[in-house]
Amino acid sequence: MNRITGIPVSKGLVIGRVYLMEQDRSLRVGRQQIAEEDAPAQLERFELARRAAIADLDALHEESTGEMGEEAAKIFLFHIGALNDPSILTPIRSMIETEHVTPEFATSFTLKKLADRFAKHPDSTFQSKVDDLRDLASRLLSKLSGKSAASLAAVAENTIIVARDLTPTQTAGFNRQHVTGFVTDLGGRTSHTAIVAGALSLPAVVGTKDITAQARDGQTIIVDGNKGTVILDPDHETIEQYKIMIQTAEEARISLHELASLPAITTDGEEIELLGNIEFADEITHLMDEGGQGVGLFRTEFLYLTGQTAPTEEDHFNAYKRCIEMLDGKPLTIRTIDLGADKYTQKQEETPERNPFLGLRSIRYSLQNQKMFRTQLRAILRASAFGPVKVMFPLITNITEFRSARYFLHEEMEELAEEGVEYNPNIDVGMMVEVPAAALMASAFAREVDFFSVGTNDLVQYTLAVDRTNERVASLYTPIHPAVLRLVRDVARAARKREIPVSCCGQSAADPAFAALLIGMGVRTLSVTASSLPLVKRTIRALDSKKCERIAKRAIGFDSEAEASSYVFNRLRKIVPEVFDGRSVR
Ligand code: PEP
Ligand code: MG
Repeated sequence: MNRITGIPVSKGLVIGRVYLMEQDRSLRVGRQQIAEEDAPAQLERFELARRAAIADLDALHEESTGEMGEEAAKIFLFHIGALNDPSILTPIRSMIETEHVTPEFATSFTLKKLADRFAKHPDSTFQSKVDDLRDLASRLLSKLSGKSAASLAAVAENTIIVARDLTPTQTAGFNRQHVTGFVTDLGGRTSHTAIVAGALSLPAVVGTKDITAQARDGQTIIVDGNKGTVILDPDHETIEQYKIMIQTAEEARISLHELASLPAITTDGEEIELLGNIEFADEITHLMDEGGQGVGLFRTEFLYLTGQTAPTEEDHFNAYKRCIEMLDGKPLTIRTIDLGADKYTQKQEETPERNPFLGLRSIRYSLQNQKMFRTQLRAILRASAFGPVKVMFPLITNITEFRSARYFLHEEMEELAEEGVEYNPNIDVGMMVEVPAAALMASAFAREVDFFSVGTNDLVQYTLAVDRTNERVASLYTPIHPAVLRLVRDVARAARKREIPVSCCGQSAADPAFAALLIGMGVRTLSVTASSLPLVKRTIRALDSKKCERIAKRAIGFDSEAEASSYVFNRLRKIVPEVFDGRSVR
Protein backbone atom coordinates (compact mmCIF):
# COMPACT_ATOMS: atom_id res chain seq x y z
CA MET A 1 0.00 0.00 0.00
CA ASN A 2 1.42 3.35 -1.04
CA ARG A 3 -0.14 6.60 0.13
CA ILE A 4 0.66 9.70 -1.93
CA THR A 5 -0.43 13.25 -1.24
CA GLY A 6 -1.30 15.85 -3.83
CA ILE A 7 -3.58 18.81 -4.26
CA PRO A 8 -7.32 18.06 -4.21
CA VAL A 9 -8.93 19.89 -7.12
CA SER A 10 -12.23 18.15 -7.67
CA LYS A 11 -14.21 16.61 -4.89
CA GLY A 12 -15.29 13.01 -4.53
CA LEU A 13 -13.99 9.58 -3.60
CA VAL A 14 -13.43 6.81 -6.06
CA ILE A 15 -11.85 3.37 -6.21
CA GLY A 16 -10.63 2.19 -9.60
CA ARG A 17 -7.78 0.88 -11.69
CA VAL A 18 -4.80 2.84 -12.91
CA TYR A 19 -4.51 3.73 -16.58
CA LEU A 20 -1.07 5.20 -17.05
CA MET A 21 -1.20 7.74 -19.85
CA GLU A 22 1.53 7.84 -22.43
CA GLN A 23 4.05 10.17 -20.88
CA ASP A 24 6.39 10.92 -23.68
CA ARG A 25 4.36 12.96 -26.07
CA SER A 26 7.43 14.13 -27.95
CA LEU A 27 7.29 13.10 -31.56
CA ARG A 28 10.87 11.99 -31.78
CA VAL A 29 11.44 8.57 -33.29
CA GLY A 30 14.85 7.62 -34.68
CA ARG A 31 15.21 7.21 -38.46
CA GLN A 32 15.11 3.52 -39.29
CA GLN A 33 15.41 2.08 -42.77
CA ILE A 34 13.40 -0.85 -44.09
CA ALA A 35 14.22 -3.14 -47.00
CA GLU A 36 12.80 -1.89 -50.31
CA GLU A 37 10.69 -5.03 -50.79
CA ASP A 38 9.25 -4.58 -47.34
CA ALA A 39 7.64 -1.25 -48.23
CA PRO A 40 4.17 -2.62 -49.25
CA ALA A 41 3.88 -4.57 -45.98
CA GLN A 42 4.89 -1.49 -44.00
CA LEU A 43 2.37 0.62 -45.90
CA GLU A 44 -0.28 -1.90 -44.96
CA ARG A 45 0.83 -1.74 -41.32
CA PHE A 46 0.45 2.04 -41.39
CA GLU A 47 -2.99 1.69 -42.96
CA LEU A 48 -4.14 -0.69 -40.24
CA ALA A 49 -2.87 1.64 -37.52
CA ARG A 50 -4.61 4.59 -39.15
CA ARG A 51 -7.92 2.74 -39.37
CA ALA A 52 -7.67 1.51 -35.80
CA ALA A 53 -6.99 5.07 -34.64
CA ILE A 54 -10.04 6.35 -36.55
CA ALA A 55 -12.21 3.64 -35.01
CA ASP A 56 -11.08 4.69 -31.51
CA LEU A 57 -11.74 8.33 -32.30
CA ASP A 58 -15.18 7.57 -33.69
CA ALA A 59 -16.08 5.77 -30.50
CA LEU A 60 -14.65 8.60 -28.41
CA HIS A 61 -16.58 11.18 -30.37
CA GLU A 62 -19.85 9.33 -30.01
CA GLU A 63 -19.46 8.71 -26.30
CA SER A 64 -18.30 12.17 -25.42
CA THR A 65 -21.09 13.79 -27.45
CA GLY A 66 -23.53 12.10 -25.08
CA GLU A 67 -21.52 13.09 -22.04
CA MET A 68 -20.49 16.64 -22.79
CA GLY A 69 -22.45 17.74 -25.80
CA GLU A 70 -21.51 18.19 -29.42
CA GLU A 71 -19.47 21.32 -28.73
CA ALA A 72 -16.95 19.63 -26.47
CA ALA A 73 -16.82 16.46 -28.53
CA LYS A 74 -15.67 18.41 -31.58
CA ILE A 75 -12.07 17.86 -30.45
CA PHE A 76 -12.19 14.37 -31.90
CA LEU A 77 -13.49 15.44 -35.27
CA PHE A 78 -10.31 17.37 -35.91
CA HIS A 79 -8.29 14.21 -35.21
CA ILE A 80 -10.48 12.11 -37.49
CA GLY A 81 -10.26 14.75 -40.21
CA ALA A 82 -6.47 14.80 -39.96
CA LEU A 83 -6.31 11.02 -40.30
CA ASN A 84 -8.14 11.32 -43.61
CA ASP A 85 -6.30 14.36 -44.84
CA PRO A 86 -4.15 13.75 -47.96
CA SER A 87 -1.81 16.59 -47.02
CA ILE A 88 -0.81 14.50 -43.99
CA LEU A 89 -1.18 11.00 -45.42
CA THR A 90 0.59 11.52 -48.75
CA PRO A 91 3.97 12.55 -47.30
CA ILE A 92 3.86 9.71 -44.76
CA ARG A 93 3.05 7.10 -47.41
CA SER A 94 5.58 8.49 -49.83
CA MET A 95 8.37 8.41 -47.23
CA ILE A 96 7.66 4.74 -46.59
CA GLU A 97 7.47 3.96 -50.32
CA THR A 98 10.36 5.98 -51.66
CA GLU A 99 12.68 6.68 -48.75
CA HIS A 100 12.16 3.21 -47.25
CA VAL A 101 11.77 4.33 -43.68
CA THR A 102 9.60 2.78 -40.98
CA PRO A 103 6.00 4.02 -40.67
CA GLU A 104 6.93 5.13 -37.14
CA PHE A 105 9.61 7.46 -38.45
CA ALA A 106 7.50 8.68 -41.37
CA THR A 107 4.59 9.43 -39.03
CA SER A 108 6.60 11.21 -36.38
CA PHE A 109 8.67 13.14 -38.92
CA THR A 110 5.66 14.35 -40.89
CA LEU A 111 3.51 15.28 -37.92
CA LYS A 112 6.39 16.95 -36.12
CA LYS A 113 7.14 19.03 -39.20
CA LEU A 114 3.51 20.03 -39.44
CA ALA A 115 3.29 20.80 -35.72
CA ASP A 116 6.37 23.02 -35.97
CA ARG A 117 4.85 24.81 -38.95
CA PHE A 118 1.55 25.30 -37.11
CA ALA A 119 3.40 26.63 -34.05
CA LYS A 120 5.01 29.33 -36.16
CA HIS A 121 1.84 30.24 -38.01
CA PRO A 122 0.66 33.80 -37.35
CA ASP A 123 -2.96 32.65 -37.18
CA SER A 124 -3.64 31.47 -33.65
CA THR A 125 -6.09 28.83 -34.94
CA PHE A 126 -3.13 26.92 -36.28
CA GLN A 127 -1.11 27.44 -33.12
CA SER A 128 -3.89 25.99 -31.04
CA LYS A 129 -3.76 22.73 -33.00
CA VAL A 130 -0.16 21.86 -32.16
CA ASP A 131 -1.15 19.83 -29.13
CA ASP A 132 -3.76 17.98 -31.18
CA LEU A 133 -1.13 17.00 -33.73
CA ARG A 134 1.05 15.66 -30.94
CA ASP A 135 -1.87 13.68 -29.53
CA LEU A 136 -2.52 12.34 -32.98
CA ALA A 137 1.08 11.28 -33.49
CA SER A 138 1.17 9.52 -30.17
CA ARG A 139 -2.10 7.74 -30.98
CA LEU A 140 -0.75 6.52 -34.31
CA LEU A 141 2.59 5.52 -32.81
CA SER A 142 0.98 3.47 -30.09
CA LYS A 143 -1.22 1.76 -32.66
CA LEU A 144 1.86 0.99 -34.74
CA SER A 145 3.71 -0.36 -31.73
CA GLY A 146 0.77 -2.65 -31.03
CA LYS A 147 0.72 -1.42 -27.45
CA SER A 148 -2.62 -0.44 -26.02
CA ALA A 149 -3.38 2.87 -27.62
CA ALA A 150 -3.69 6.11 -25.75
CA SER A 151 -7.35 5.82 -26.59
CA LEU A 152 -9.52 6.50 -23.64
CA ALA A 153 -12.48 4.94 -25.42
CA ALA A 154 -10.97 1.54 -24.98
CA VAL A 155 -10.34 1.79 -21.26
CA ALA A 156 -12.18 -0.48 -18.92
CA GLU A 157 -14.79 0.69 -16.49
CA ASN A 158 -13.69 2.49 -13.36
CA THR A 159 -10.49 3.74 -14.88
CA ILE A 160 -8.43 6.35 -13.09
CA ILE A 161 -6.16 8.22 -15.45
CA VAL A 162 -2.67 8.72 -14.07
CA ALA A 163 -0.62 11.18 -16.11
CA ARG A 164 2.26 13.58 -15.90
CA ASP A 165 -0.05 16.42 -16.94
CA LEU A 166 -3.22 16.84 -18.95
CA THR A 167 -4.30 19.66 -21.18
CA PRO A 168 -7.81 21.02 -20.56
CA THR A 169 -8.71 19.56 -23.95
CA GLN A 170 -7.62 16.09 -22.92
CA THR A 171 -9.54 16.36 -19.67
CA ALA A 172 -12.63 17.45 -21.54
CA GLY A 173 -12.24 14.48 -23.86
CA PHE A 174 -12.41 11.78 -21.19
CA ASN A 175 -14.93 9.06 -21.69
CA ARG A 176 -17.03 9.73 -18.62
CA GLN A 177 -18.64 6.32 -18.61
CA HIS A 178 -15.35 4.64 -17.92
CA VAL A 179 -13.01 7.29 -16.60
CA THR A 180 -13.99 8.03 -13.03
CA GLY A 181 -11.13 10.20 -11.83
CA PHE A 182 -7.63 11.35 -12.46
CA VAL A 183 -4.31 12.06 -10.81
CA THR A 184 -1.38 14.00 -12.22
CA ASP A 185 2.21 14.76 -11.30
CA LEU A 186 1.90 18.44 -12.17
CA GLY A 187 -0.70 21.17 -11.73
CA GLY A 188 -2.20 23.45 -9.10
CA ARG A 189 -5.55 24.08 -7.49
CA THR A 190 -6.92 26.49 -10.05
CA SER A 191 -5.24 25.24 -13.20
CA HIS A 192 -7.68 24.92 -16.06
CA THR A 193 -7.42 21.17 -16.09
CA ALA A 194 -8.64 21.30 -12.51
CA ILE A 195 -11.51 23.54 -13.53
CA VAL A 196 -12.66 21.13 -16.23
CA ALA A 197 -12.43 18.24 -13.75
CA GLY A 198 -14.76 20.18 -11.49
CA ALA A 199 -17.13 20.85 -14.36
CA LEU A 200 -17.26 17.13 -15.12
CA SER A 201 -17.57 16.24 -11.43
CA LEU A 202 -14.62 13.85 -11.73
CA PRO A 203 -12.67 13.41 -8.47
CA ALA A 204 -9.16 14.61 -9.16
CA VAL A 205 -5.84 15.14 -7.42
CA VAL A 206 -3.01 17.05 -9.09
CA GLY A 207 0.51 18.02 -8.10
CA THR A 208 1.52 14.63 -6.68
CA LYS A 209 4.97 15.29 -8.19
CA ASP A 210 5.81 11.74 -9.22
CA ILE A 211 2.80 9.43 -9.17
CA THR A 212 3.56 8.35 -12.73
CA ALA A 213 6.85 6.92 -11.48
CA GLN A 214 5.11 4.92 -8.76
CA ALA A 215 1.91 3.70 -10.40
CA ARG A 216 1.51 0.67 -12.65
CA ASP A 217 -1.15 0.00 -15.25
CA GLY A 218 -4.09 -1.94 -13.83
CA GLN A 219 -3.14 -1.36 -10.20
CA THR A 220 -5.96 -0.67 -7.73
CA ILE A 221 -6.08 2.97 -6.76
CA ILE A 222 -8.16 5.12 -4.44
CA VAL A 223 -8.52 8.81 -5.23
CA ASP A 224 -9.71 11.08 -2.48
CA GLY A 225 -10.50 14.35 -4.23
CA ASN A 226 -11.62 15.89 -0.93
CA LYS A 227 -8.33 15.52 0.87
CA GLY A 228 -5.86 15.11 -1.97
CA THR A 229 -4.88 11.59 -0.95
CA VAL A 230 -4.13 8.86 -3.45
CA ILE A 231 -3.60 5.28 -2.34
CA LEU A 232 -1.95 2.77 -4.65
CA ASP A 233 -2.50 -0.91 -3.93
CA PRO A 234 -4.75 -0.31 -0.90
CA ASP A 235 -5.15 -3.27 1.47
CA HIS A 236 -8.50 -4.95 1.99
CA GLU A 237 -9.27 -3.01 5.16
CA THR A 238 -8.62 0.36 3.49
CA ILE A 239 -10.81 -0.55 0.52
CA GLU A 240 -13.63 -1.48 2.87
CA GLN A 241 -13.21 1.79 4.78
CA TYR A 242 -13.39 3.78 1.56
CA LYS A 243 -16.44 1.89 0.36
CA ILE A 244 -18.24 3.00 3.51
CA MET A 245 -17.01 6.58 3.03
CA ILE A 246 -18.24 6.55 -0.58
CA GLN A 247 -21.65 5.34 0.55
CA THR A 248 -21.85 8.03 3.27
CA ALA A 249 -20.77 10.71 0.81
CA GLU A 250 -23.46 9.62 -1.61
CA GLU A 251 -26.09 9.87 1.11
CA ALA A 252 -24.81 13.34 2.06
CA ARG A 253 -24.93 14.38 -1.58
CA ILE A 254 -28.54 13.32 -1.85
CA SER A 255 -29.46 15.21 1.29
CA LEU A 256 -27.60 18.33 0.12
CA HIS A 257 -29.39 18.07 -3.19
CA GLU A 258 -32.66 18.48 -1.32
CA LEU A 259 -31.62 22.09 -0.72
CA ALA A 260 -31.80 22.82 -4.45
CA SER A 261 -35.25 24.34 -4.28
CA LEU A 262 -34.58 26.38 -1.12
CA PRO A 263 -33.23 29.94 -1.22
CA ALA A 264 -29.61 30.76 -0.37
CA ILE A 265 -30.41 32.96 2.58
CA THR A 266 -28.45 33.60 5.77
CA THR A 267 -30.00 33.08 9.18
CA ASP A 268 -30.43 36.86 9.48
CA GLY A 269 -32.25 37.10 6.18
CA GLU A 270 -29.53 38.24 3.73
CA GLU A 271 -30.24 36.77 0.33
CA ILE A 272 -27.22 35.53 -1.58
CA GLU A 273 -27.43 35.01 -5.31
CA LEU A 274 -25.89 31.67 -6.24
CA LEU A 275 -24.76 31.41 -9.83
CA GLY A 276 -22.73 28.87 -11.74
CA ASN A 277 -19.42 28.83 -13.59
CA ILE A 278 -19.56 26.95 -16.88
CA GLU A 279 -17.22 26.05 -19.70
CA PHE A 280 -19.81 24.31 -21.90
CA ALA A 281 -23.50 25.08 -22.42
CA ASP A 282 -24.45 21.54 -21.41
CA GLU A 283 -23.31 22.15 -17.86
CA ILE A 284 -26.39 24.30 -17.37
CA THR A 285 -28.57 21.20 -16.94
CA HIS A 286 -26.59 20.16 -13.87
CA LEU A 287 -26.47 23.75 -12.66
CA MET A 288 -30.25 24.15 -12.82
CA ASP A 289 -30.69 20.80 -11.17
CA GLU A 290 -28.64 22.03 -8.21
CA GLY A 291 -30.74 25.19 -7.94
CA GLY A 292 -28.37 27.65 -9.69
CA GLN A 293 -29.95 31.05 -10.31
CA GLY A 294 -28.08 31.71 -13.52
CA VAL A 295 -24.56 31.71 -14.94
CA GLY A 296 -22.07 34.11 -13.38
CA LEU A 297 -19.15 33.10 -15.55
CA PHE A 298 -19.18 31.48 -18.98
CA ARG A 299 -15.55 30.72 -19.81
CA THR A 300 -15.92 31.15 -23.56
CA GLU A 301 -12.33 30.30 -24.39
CA PHE A 302 -13.35 26.65 -24.23
CA LEU A 303 -15.25 27.23 -27.49
CA TYR A 304 -11.89 28.05 -28.89
CA LEU A 305 -9.93 25.29 -27.17
CA THR A 306 -12.22 22.47 -28.22
CA GLY A 307 -13.19 23.45 -31.76
CA GLN A 308 -11.53 22.36 -34.96
CA THR A 309 -10.99 25.95 -35.99
CA ALA A 310 -11.42 29.29 -34.27
CA PRO A 311 -15.12 29.73 -33.55
CA THR A 312 -17.03 31.76 -36.10
CA GLU A 313 -19.56 34.41 -35.17
CA GLU A 314 -22.26 31.77 -35.65
CA ASP A 315 -20.44 29.29 -33.38
CA HIS A 316 -20.30 31.91 -30.67
CA PHE A 317 -23.87 33.01 -31.23
CA ASN A 318 -25.24 29.45 -31.23
CA ALA A 319 -23.42 28.60 -28.01
CA TYR A 320 -24.77 31.73 -26.29
CA LYS A 321 -28.26 31.27 -27.66
CA ARG A 322 -28.27 27.71 -26.40
CA CYS A 323 -27.26 28.89 -22.93
CA ILE A 324 -30.00 31.51 -22.98
CA GLU A 325 -32.59 28.91 -23.94
CA MET A 326 -31.42 26.48 -21.28
CA LEU A 327 -31.41 29.23 -18.67
CA ASP A 328 -34.98 30.15 -19.51
CA GLY A 329 -34.91 33.77 -18.35
CA LYS A 330 -32.12 33.43 -15.79
CA PRO A 331 -29.07 35.69 -16.24
CA LEU A 332 -26.00 34.78 -18.28
CA THR A 333 -22.66 36.55 -17.85
CA ILE A 334 -20.45 35.93 -20.84
CA ARG A 335 -16.78 36.50 -20.27
CA THR A 336 -14.87 37.35 -23.41
CA ILE A 337 -12.14 34.93 -24.42
CA ASP A 338 -9.45 34.47 -21.78
CA LEU A 339 -6.73 32.86 -23.86
CA GLY A 340 -3.03 32.77 -23.12
CA ALA A 341 -1.00 31.67 -20.08
CA ASP A 342 -2.27 28.24 -19.00
CA LYS A 343 -4.90 28.17 -21.72
CA TYR A 344 -2.18 27.71 -24.27
CA THR A 345 0.70 25.43 -23.88
CA GLN A 346 4.02 27.03 -24.44
CA LYS A 347 4.61 24.69 -27.37
CA GLN A 348 1.86 26.53 -29.15
CA GLU A 349 3.50 29.86 -29.01
CA GLU A 350 5.61 30.96 -31.87
CA THR A 351 8.09 32.49 -29.49
CA PRO A 352 7.36 31.06 -26.08
CA GLU A 353 6.79 33.74 -23.51
CA ARG A 354 9.17 33.76 -20.57
CA ASN A 355 6.42 34.70 -18.13
CA PRO A 356 3.16 33.68 -19.77
CA PHE A 357 1.00 34.66 -16.80
CA LEU A 358 2.47 38.15 -17.11
CA GLY A 359 2.33 38.06 -20.85
CA LEU A 360 -0.07 38.37 -23.73
CA ARG A 361 -3.11 36.80 -22.16
CA SER A 362 -6.76 37.46 -21.72
CA ILE A 363 -8.04 40.97 -22.56
CA ARG A 364 -4.52 41.91 -23.73
CA TYR A 365 -4.69 39.10 -26.25
CA SER A 366 -8.17 40.13 -27.37
CA LEU A 367 -7.17 43.77 -27.80
CA GLN A 368 -4.27 42.69 -29.98
CA ASN A 369 -6.43 40.30 -32.00
CA GLN A 370 -9.21 42.67 -32.82
CA LYS A 371 -10.82 40.61 -35.54
CA MET A 372 -11.30 37.67 -33.22
CA PHE A 373 -12.47 39.94 -30.43
CA ARG A 374 -14.99 41.83 -32.56
CA THR A 375 -16.41 38.55 -33.86
CA GLN A 376 -17.14 37.50 -30.32
CA LEU A 377 -18.54 40.88 -29.29
CA ARG A 378 -20.95 40.87 -32.23
CA ALA A 379 -22.18 37.41 -31.29
CA ILE A 380 -22.65 38.41 -27.65
CA LEU A 381 -24.61 41.49 -28.71
CA ARG A 382 -26.80 39.49 -31.05
CA ALA A 383 -27.46 36.99 -28.27
CA SER A 384 -28.38 39.83 -25.91
CA ALA A 385 -31.59 40.32 -27.89
CA PHE A 386 -32.77 36.90 -26.68
CA GLY A 387 -32.26 37.04 -22.93
CA PRO A 388 -30.61 38.70 -19.94
CA VAL A 389 -27.00 38.69 -21.09
CA LYS A 390 -24.12 40.61 -19.52
CA VAL A 391 -20.65 40.92 -20.95
CA MET A 392 -17.51 40.83 -18.82
CA PHE A 393 -13.89 41.54 -19.69
CA PRO A 394 -11.16 39.47 -18.00
CA LEU A 395 -7.85 40.55 -16.50
CA ILE A 396 -8.48 44.27 -16.76
CA THR A 397 -5.44 46.00 -15.28
CA ASN A 398 -5.83 49.58 -16.36
CA ILE A 399 -8.75 51.77 -17.29
CA THR A 400 -7.58 52.13 -20.88
CA GLU A 401 -8.06 48.42 -21.44
CA PHE A 402 -11.62 48.59 -20.19
CA ARG A 403 -12.37 51.66 -22.27
CA SER A 404 -10.86 50.12 -25.40
CA ALA A 405 -12.81 46.91 -24.97
CA ARG A 406 -16.03 48.86 -24.39
CA TYR A 407 -15.24 51.04 -27.39
CA PHE A 408 -15.06 47.96 -29.61
CA LEU A 409 -18.34 46.80 -28.14
CA HIS A 410 -19.97 50.12 -28.98
CA GLU A 411 -18.56 50.04 -32.49
CA GLU A 412 -20.08 46.61 -32.99
CA MET A 413 -23.37 47.96 -31.64
CA GLU A 414 -23.31 50.68 -34.29
CA GLU A 415 -22.59 48.14 -37.01
CA LEU A 416 -25.48 45.97 -35.88
CA ALA A 417 -27.79 48.96 -35.69
CA GLU A 418 -26.88 49.93 -39.25
CA GLU A 419 -27.59 46.39 -40.38
CA GLY A 420 -30.89 46.41 -38.53
CA VAL A 421 -29.84 43.49 -36.32
CA GLU A 422 -31.37 43.41 -32.86
CA TYR A 423 -29.33 43.62 -29.67
CA ASN A 424 -29.70 45.05 -26.18
CA PRO A 425 -28.21 48.56 -26.29
CA ASN A 426 -28.27 48.68 -22.49
CA ILE A 427 -26.32 45.47 -22.01
CA ASP A 428 -24.39 45.51 -18.71
CA VAL A 429 -20.66 45.70 -19.25
CA GLY A 430 -18.52 44.56 -16.37
CA MET A 431 -14.99 43.55 -15.56
CA MET A 432 -13.23 40.87 -13.64
CA VAL A 433 -11.02 42.00 -10.81
CA GLU A 434 -8.12 39.58 -11.00
CA VAL A 435 -5.11 41.83 -10.69
CA PRO A 436 -4.08 43.77 -7.56
CA ALA A 437 -3.80 46.96 -9.65
CA ALA A 438 -7.48 46.70 -10.56
CA ALA A 439 -8.49 46.01 -6.97
CA LEU A 440 -6.45 48.96 -5.71
CA MET A 441 -8.06 51.22 -8.31
CA ALA A 442 -11.53 49.77 -7.80
CA SER A 443 -13.13 53.10 -6.96
CA ALA A 444 -11.94 54.55 -10.29
CA PHE A 445 -13.18 51.52 -12.20
CA ALA A 446 -16.48 51.59 -10.32
CA ARG A 447 -17.29 54.91 -12.00
CA GLU A 448 -17.21 53.26 -15.42
CA VAL A 449 -18.24 49.64 -15.12
CA ASP A 450 -21.68 48.17 -14.57
CA PHE A 451 -20.44 45.40 -12.29
CA PHE A 452 -17.39 43.73 -10.81
CA SER A 453 -16.66 40.05 -10.56
CA VAL A 454 -13.70 39.15 -8.39
CA GLY A 455 -11.63 36.35 -9.90
CA THR A 456 -9.73 35.02 -6.92
CA ASN A 457 -7.97 32.32 -8.94
CA ASP A 458 -5.86 34.97 -10.57
CA LEU A 459 -6.10 37.60 -7.85
CA VAL A 460 -4.47 35.23 -5.35
CA GLN A 461 -1.74 34.28 -7.81
CA TYR A 462 -0.89 37.87 -8.67
CA THR A 463 -1.14 39.20 -5.11
CA LEU A 464 0.98 36.48 -3.56
CA ALA A 465 3.24 35.93 -6.60
CA VAL A 466 2.33 32.23 -6.65
CA ASP A 467 1.81 30.47 -9.98
CA ARG A 468 -1.67 28.96 -9.71
CA THR A 469 -0.64 25.93 -11.76
CA ASN A 470 2.65 25.12 -10.03
CA GLU A 471 2.45 22.32 -7.50
CA ARG A 472 5.81 23.27 -6.04
CA VAL A 473 4.45 26.48 -4.59
CA ALA A 474 0.90 25.26 -4.00
CA SER A 475 1.25 25.56 -0.22
CA LEU A 476 1.82 29.30 -0.70
CA TYR A 477 -1.42 29.65 -2.64
CA THR A 478 -3.57 30.81 0.28
CA PRO A 479 -6.75 32.77 -0.50
CA ILE A 480 -7.28 33.53 3.20
CA HIS A 481 -4.29 35.84 3.25
CA PRO A 482 -4.88 39.26 4.77
CA ALA A 483 -3.43 40.88 1.62
CA VAL A 484 -5.97 39.14 -0.59
CA LEU A 485 -8.79 39.86 1.82
CA ARG A 486 -7.94 43.56 1.93
CA LEU A 487 -8.13 43.76 -1.83
CA VAL A 488 -11.47 41.96 -1.98
CA ARG A 489 -12.82 44.21 0.77
CA ASP A 490 -11.74 47.32 -1.14
CA VAL A 491 -13.44 46.09 -4.30
CA ALA A 492 -16.64 45.34 -2.39
CA ARG A 493 -16.51 48.77 -0.74
CA ALA A 494 -15.97 50.58 -4.02
CA ALA A 495 -18.87 48.69 -5.55
CA ARG A 496 -21.16 49.46 -2.65
CA LYS A 497 -20.32 53.15 -2.83
CA ARG A 498 -21.31 53.35 -6.50
CA GLU A 499 -24.17 50.90 -5.99
CA ILE A 500 -22.93 48.46 -8.58
CA PRO A 501 -23.12 44.68 -8.10
CA VAL A 502 -20.04 42.74 -7.08
CA SER A 503 -19.69 38.98 -7.25
CA CYS A 504 -16.93 36.45 -6.79
CA CYS A 505 -16.42 33.75 -9.40
CA GLY A 506 -13.04 32.32 -8.37
CA GLN A 507 -12.80 28.78 -7.00
CA SER A 508 -12.49 30.18 -3.48
CA ALA A 509 -16.13 31.23 -3.57
CA ALA A 510 -16.91 27.51 -3.32
CA ASP A 511 -14.83 27.12 -0.17
CA PRO A 512 -17.25 27.44 2.78
CA ALA A 513 -14.80 29.49 4.86
CA PHE A 514 -13.96 31.87 2.05
CA ALA A 515 -17.65 32.15 1.15
CA ALA A 516 -18.32 33.22 4.74
CA LEU A 517 -15.62 35.88 4.45
CA LEU A 518 -17.02 37.12 1.14
CA ILE A 519 -20.43 37.52 2.74
CA GLY A 520 -18.75 39.32 5.61
CA MET A 521 -17.10 41.71 3.16
CA GLY A 522 -20.42 42.52 1.55
CA VAL A 523 -20.35 40.27 -1.53
CA ARG A 524 -23.87 39.07 -2.25
CA THR A 525 -23.37 37.04 -5.42
CA LEU A 526 -21.23 33.91 -5.61
CA SER A 527 -20.56 31.99 -8.79
CA VAL A 528 -19.26 28.43 -8.39
CA THR A 529 -19.21 25.13 -10.27
CA ALA A 530 -22.51 23.27 -10.21
CA SER A 531 -21.14 20.46 -8.06
CA SER A 532 -20.02 22.93 -5.35
CA LEU A 533 -23.34 24.68 -5.21
CA PRO A 534 -25.16 22.49 -2.65
CA LEU A 535 -22.43 22.77 -0.01
CA VAL A 536 -22.09 26.52 -0.52
CA LYS A 537 -25.84 26.87 -0.13
CA ARG A 538 -25.87 24.79 3.01
CA THR A 539 -23.08 26.96 4.42
CA ILE A 540 -24.91 30.18 3.59
CA ARG A 541 -28.10 28.94 5.20
CA ALA A 542 -26.18 28.29 8.43
CA LEU A 543 -24.38 31.66 8.56
CA ASP A 544 -25.26 35.00 10.10
CA SER A 545 -24.06 37.83 7.87
CA LYS A 546 -23.28 40.14 10.82
CA LYS A 547 -21.08 37.52 12.40
CA CYS A 548 -19.38 36.98 9.05
CA GLU A 549 -18.73 40.71 8.93
CA ARG A 550 -17.00 40.63 12.30
CA ILE A 551 -14.94 37.57 11.35
CA ALA A 552 -13.85 39.13 8.06
CA LYS A 553 -12.87 42.38 9.76
CA ARG A 554 -10.75 40.54 12.29
CA ALA A 555 -9.17 38.23 9.69
CA ILE A 556 -8.10 41.21 7.60
CA GLY A 557 -6.33 42.68 10.64
CA PHE A 558 -3.94 39.76 11.16
CA ASP A 559 -0.30 39.97 10.13
CA SER A 560 -0.09 36.55 8.60
CA GLU A 561 -2.05 34.09 6.56
CA ALA A 562 -1.53 31.38 9.21
CA GLU A 563 -3.09 33.49 11.98
CA ALA A 564 -5.93 34.64 9.76
CA SER A 565 -6.90 31.20 8.58
CA SER A 566 -6.67 29.52 11.97
CA TYR A 567 -8.78 32.30 13.48
CA VAL A 568 -11.39 32.03 10.72
CA PHE A 569 -11.56 28.27 11.00
CA ASN A 570 -11.87 28.25 14.77
CA ARG A 571 -14.60 30.89 14.76
CA LEU A 572 -16.61 29.22 12.04
CA ARG A 573 -16.30 25.84 13.66
CA LYS A 574 -17.84 27.24 16.82
CA ILE A 575 -20.64 29.02 15.00
CA VAL A 576 -21.55 26.37 12.44
CA PRO A 577 -20.00 23.07 13.54
CA GLU A 578 -22.27 21.15 11.16
CA VAL A 579 -20.36 22.63 8.21
CA PHE A 580 -16.89 23.26 9.56
CA ASP A 581 -16.18 20.34 11.86
CA GLY A 582 -13.48 18.24 10.29
CA ARG A 583 -12.86 20.80 7.57
CA SER A 584 -9.63 22.71 7.42
CA VAL A 585 -9.45 26.17 6.02
CA ARG A 586 -7.28 26.60 2.97
C1 PEP B 1 -10.36 33.70 -11.79
O1 PEP B 1 -9.24 34.07 -12.16
O2 PEP B 1 -10.71 33.65 -10.59
C2 PEP B 1 -11.34 33.26 -12.78
C3 PEP B 1 -12.58 32.97 -12.42
O3 PEP B 1 -10.92 33.14 -14.07
P1 PEP B 1 -10.12 31.86 -14.63
O4 PEP B 1 -10.07 30.83 -13.54
O5 PEP B 1 -10.86 31.40 -15.82
O6 PEP B 1 -8.80 32.45 -14.94
MG1 MG C 1 -8.83 34.43 -14.26
